[in-house]
Amino acid sequence: MRIERELEGLRAATGAWRAAGRRIALVPTMGALHAGHLALVAEARRRAEIVITSIFVNPLQFLPHEDLARYPRDEAGDLEKLRAAGCDLAWMPTPAVMYPPGAATVVEPAGPAEGWEGDERPGHFRGVATVCTKLFMMTGADVAVFGEKDWQQLQVIRRVVADLHLPLEIVGLPTVRDADGLALSSRNQRLSPEQRARAAALPRRLRAVAKALAEGRPAAPTLAEAREGLAADGFGVDYLALVVPHTLKPWTEGQHGEARLLATARLGEVRLLDNLPVFLRG
Ligand code: AMP
Repeated sequence: MRIERELEGLRAATGAWRAAGRRIALVPTMGALHAGHLALVAEARRRAEIVITSIFVNPLQFLPHEDLARYPRDEAGDLEKLRAAGCDLAWMPTPAVMYPPGAATVVEPAGPAEGWEGDERPGHFRGVATVCTKLFMMTGADVAVFGEKDWQQLQVIRRVVADLHLPLEIVGLPTVRDADGLALSSRNQRLSPEQRARAAALPRRLRAVAKALAEGRPAAPTLAEAREGLAADGFGVDYLALVVPHTLKPWTEGQHGEARLLATARLGEVRLLDNLPVFLRG
């Protein structure tokens, strides 16, 4: 597996692959890799001859009060996992490579970037959209693989790629979970053992809500009850909402078809994100 930290090295590798007619898949990550990330790498393997995984903890998507320095990092462990997963190139730019001195251009997404995480973390999706656009341009990838775990992010990326006519395909993969249902996340490492045990209540309550809604219970009281339940379980609930899957607009009572249940809840300082598909019959 090649490891590249400078644009020249990355371009030399991708230029040669493209000249040989190879299809390139990209898996963007912030490192501290777990089985969820590796599922994306495996999907990338199936979809292209060359797999590039980027590891970059993107300062632009952290808010000033969010602790960028405390984001988990494990470069040696990550590289070992990527080698074992059959990744061809680890792209590990420094912040100065990603944002050279004087950098002043950003990608400002609206539409699906509005509301939910967009409200909780103003500017976050600007950082995500900007870095992903740069990664797409730097690698010249034909396809990029993202997790449904960050549902709103996936919709923002799809919107950006369509709006900027970027010539790549975006693939979304279902969330990989621990045995107790908790969505794998690099941030789970920061939960205490007691918080980790309690965290499984989030997916458990989401499953219960999805089931109740699919059975025809009205959304508003079902969601309100689940918010109270999560608070009783010790969570600080940022939001628990039913939305239109691709636009992220709030679901209106009486609508039917495919919806998405989104939740973000805090245990101590750790924010847990999760979401599930819900089908509401007419
Ligand atoms: P991150 O490194 O957490 O920013 O995530 C990098 C990519 O991995 C994003 O596309 C995430 O949606 C995806 N991802 C993170 N956790 C999971 C998971 N548990 N299952 C599937 N994909 C995931």
